[in-house]
Amino acid sequence: MPTSPNAPLAVAREGLLTLLAPPRCLACRRRGRTPWCTVCRSMVREQPPGCPRCAAPRGGVHACWPTGAPIDATVAAFDYRGEVAAAIATAKLSGAHAGWAGLTEALVARLAALAPEVDVVTWITTPPGRVRQRGTDHAACIAREVARGLGLPILPLLDARTRHRGRDAYRACHGLPATDVLLVDDILTTGATAWGAATALRRAGAGTVHLAVLARAGTHPLGA
Ligand SMILES: [Zn+2]
Ligand SMILES: [Zn+2]
Repeated sequence: MPTSPNAPLAVAREGLLTLLAPPRCLACRRRGRTPWCTVCRSMVREQPPGCPRCAAPRGGVHACWPTGAPIDATVAAFDYRGEVAAAIATAKLSGAHAGWAGLTEALVARLAALAPEVDVVTWITTPPGRVRQRGTDHAACIAREVARGLGLPILPLLDARTRHRGRDAYRACHGLPATDVLLVDDILTTGATAWGAATALRRAGAGTVHLAVLARAGTHPLGA
């Protein structure tokens, strides 16, 4: 295999980064592995495959997306608690080099098994003020891993409208006639943010909107 002349430099830089910032558990901050050390990993439970519309655990009545929701399907890899919540919080503060690939692995595997029929991956944009504070748009990091894992194109399709809330909080920056979109975010809680983002995609002409999140928090009623 031909080797890039820059390969030794890249290896040296990687080694230096490891020396300066050795891998740490994103939940308990112990040195060792990213995203979780062996102890924390043993306590992480993946969300069992649940309701295809809202990703709630199966069994009994649950507060699903109401009729008329702009979201057709939802996939979540984890329940948002314990080591999962701690790791996501640390990763958000640590920026782009925080081990998003490891955190996103389970979500990518789940999506690959479901093979949603979508044309493009996008993400729920973080408002510019918060991106400046944190140095990165965390949902973009997750979406990049998802797009890479599924071999799909990724495009920034949404603008966050900082003066608007709820269903008007986002605006699509392109027309999307009959485009099926995989919309990515870190956490699904009340669903208001995802509803607003998906509404903007639909207004721009999107066909179906599939939502993919690292974790679903609790079983809040979903809606705007
Ligand atoms: Zn740990
Ligand atoms: Zn449901």
